[in-house]
Amino acid sequence: MTQTTGNYYPAVILGLIAALVAVFALYVVERAGAAAVQSLPAAGSARQEAQYQWKMVTTWPKNFPGLGAAPENFARSVAAMSNGRLQIKVYGANELVPALGVFDAVSSGSVEAGHGAAYYWKGKIAAAPLFTSVPFGINAQEMNGWLHYGGGLALWREVYAPFNLVPFAAGNTGVQMAGWFNREINSVEDLKGLKMRIPGYGGEVWTRAGGTAVNIPGGELYTALQTGVIDATEWVGPYNDLAFGFHQVAKYYYYPGWQEPGPTLELIVNKTALESLPADLQAIVEVAARAANQDMLDEYTARNNAALTELIDTHGVQVRRLPDDVLRTLRATAEQIYRETAQSDPVFARVYRAYREFAEQSQAYHRVSEQANYDIRNLR
Ligand code: CA
Repeated sequence: MTQTTGNYYPAVILGLIAALVAVFALYVVERAGAAAVQSLPAAGSARQEAQYQWKMVTTWPKNFPGLGAAPENFARSVAAMSNGRLQIKVYGANELVPALGVFDAVSSGSVEAGHGAAYYWKGKIAAAPLFTSVPFGINAQEMNGWLHYGGGLALWREVYAPFNLVPFAAGNTGVQMAGWFNREINSVEDLKGLKMRIPGYGGEVWTRAGGTAVNIPGGELYTALQTGVIDATEWVGPYNDLAFGFHQVAKYYYYPGWQEPGPTLELIVNKTALESLPADLQAIVEVAARAANQDMLDEYTARNNAALTELIDTHGVQVRRLPDDVLRTLRATAEQIYRETAQSDPVFARVYRAYREFAEQSQAYHRVSEQANYDIRNLR
């Protein structure tokens, strides 16, 4: 599967990139005006000789399907679009810094860029998970709408500015699964004492509802589940979970992914490093991130279906839905946590208000569009 991805990816993405670059070039020319355009060739030719070498650290295992492919694809796109003027070397988790050391490494400038997820930094920034995914929040399509046309990205950049970081959306898995369990969940009582790997606000909800939440990087999860260090884990969805082999160490696969309804992965770039690039390379970074963002969602949308079938038919995985009373409790707990966090953290309060307003509008329309469309597929 990974091999196939590597082969077809460049043709599809390079086509898209070529179109985006052409559109951007037209935009630049139009904005620059006639006088500025005349002065461009001299400055441009001097700049074109400059070469930039960046390091990018990630929270994912090296070359991990989907999540780990996004930073590699991004780096390849940037190199192709810049004709090799900006080269980005990608490092997997623990190669240069630990998975959860990515934010600090990019913030300090010891590396120029990182790929991961904003909700890993919840301990530093209470509002950060709103830029990935929060329990009972918006889906991938809505996240993309909010970030790029609803003011979300501007807020994200404002929140990260004190850390000398510029964030970009650079991947989305779509709605996830609730996770892998070695115990059946039939009621809220069954959450008691259940030790689960679940990051972000999902983890806080889990703990308050009676369970115990831990945040363990992806690469360590299989062993943790196998040895009983944890009783359950959420990770992503069928495509990624099958690659990790969780079906070998857990019996039940629960849905829906209440904890992550459409997580956005992040590219973070050290602000000083980004601003040291000429304008065309900065634009290439922006466009390549946008392409990687959409590409990941496309890949998951295509591959999750086949992977779920394989998990059920070949590996005998039991797929279960979390009971409504459990979901109701988790939802009420999440709302409580958002209210409390908004009271104690003004930045969270501001971002959450914007997120919530977008979610409410979007839901009103999606009820008569997306949701209604899913419903009519089953009309008999
Ligand atoms: Ca997850």
